[in-house]
Amino acid sequence: MSTTTHAIAVPAPGAPLAPTTIERRDLRPDDVLIDIAYAGICHSDLHQAKEDWGQAIFPMVPGHEIAGVVAAVGSDVTKYQVGDRVGVGCMVDSCGECEYCLAGTEQFCLKGNIQTYNGVGFDGENTYGGYSNQIVVKDAFVLRIPEGIELDVAAPLLCAGITTYSPLHHWGAGPGKKVAVIGLGGLGHMAVKIAAAMGAEVTVLSQSLKKREDGLKLGAKDYYATGDESTFDVLRGKFDLILNTVSAKLPVDAYLGLLRVGGAMVNVGAPGEPLSYHAFSLIGANRVLAGSMIGGIPETQQMLDFCAEHGIGAEIETISADKVNEAYERIENSDVRYRFVIDAKTIGA
Ligand code: NAP
Ligand code: ZN
Repeated sequence: MSTTTHAIAVPAPGAPLAPTTIERRDLRPDDVLIDIAYAGICHSDLHQAKEDWGQAIFPMVPGHEIAGVVAAVGSDVTKYQVGDRVGVGCMVDSCGECEYCLAGTEQFCLKGNIQTYNGVGFDGENTYGGYSNQIVVKDAFVLRIPEGIELDVAAPLLCAGITTYSPLHHWGAGPGKKVAVIGLGGLGHMAVKIAAAMGAEVTVLSQSLKKREDGLKLGAKDYYATGDESTFDVLRGKFDLILNTVSAKLPVDAYLGLLRVGGAMVNVGAPGEPLSYHAFSLIGANRVLAGSMIGGIPETQQMLDFCAEHGIGAEIETISADKVNEAYERIENSDVRYRFVIDAKTIGA
């Protein structure tokens, strides 16, 4: 038994998205049924739809930036009630028993976290994401969206928000720290807002200066074009922390040169091709090159509460379901200010 819901799916690798219907399971005792209001479009959706990261499962219903309202709860659910404003991010399950799950870092689950889409659940069923009307998710993977953040601008926080909050928090972005953000897209613009709210001095490193005014409004103090080679001389040795949010391959050595002694560059951007660097770019100044994957469930709730407290939501362009292929094309061309969000009531309408 299951419920049929409307969705938008990628039928085959690299194919355009098209309307479809999918089945959502009947509620288990610990499940929450969510009426989806908005689903953000993350560049990871594009990578997976094109199999940039390897073989994927099709048809694929992408979407791991989900905001909506609880429509029903299973018999054992006490944390949520019908009508609650909730979100779902990149994971919908994990083993719950390994050291990483017990530490609240379910993304590193030793049995593998179950991704919101393009995954296979512990029950053997494929997972389908947020470009749909409804979703059923285990209560432990449902987040509470605080009052004070509207659902549309909250949706992107479930991936872009946590993916930038977690490394900024971990690597100590705060007063007295100079933080650079490479790429002013979905993740990048959240990184600027969050790092500025944490009290850091933020610089945007974008391909050109065309979004400069926006970047400064979002909270950056400085804004430089990486297409201008002099940028790499002017900013040499300046930053404590660089967050790379770029979806494509970058000349890593050039960016490492912008770190002060002991500074760290953290990659969250996830291009399909390998990145490379020269050992001396690190050795010469005790620099650190690191990575970061989303964030655990407790930290995601912490991030949502932080954003509510600081009045932070995403800058969005809301689209109807029929505009999703156009949005994908614009994201490929770095033409997004700064996150597309699908209005779920237009799916299947
Ligand atoms: P996005 O909205 O498309 O933003 C990426 C930005 O990177 C663009 O706006 C552009 O900024 C810059 N860029 C794009 N192509 C470039 C190129 N060839 N050279 C230099 N800069 C370029 O993407 P997103 O949704 O923020 O996602 C960014 C990356 O993070 C993706 O690879 C995604 O898969 C990954 N991701 C990782 C995690 C994780 O857990 N680590 C989570 C979510 C997403 P400018 O126009 O300002 O230059
Ligand atoms: Zn994402």
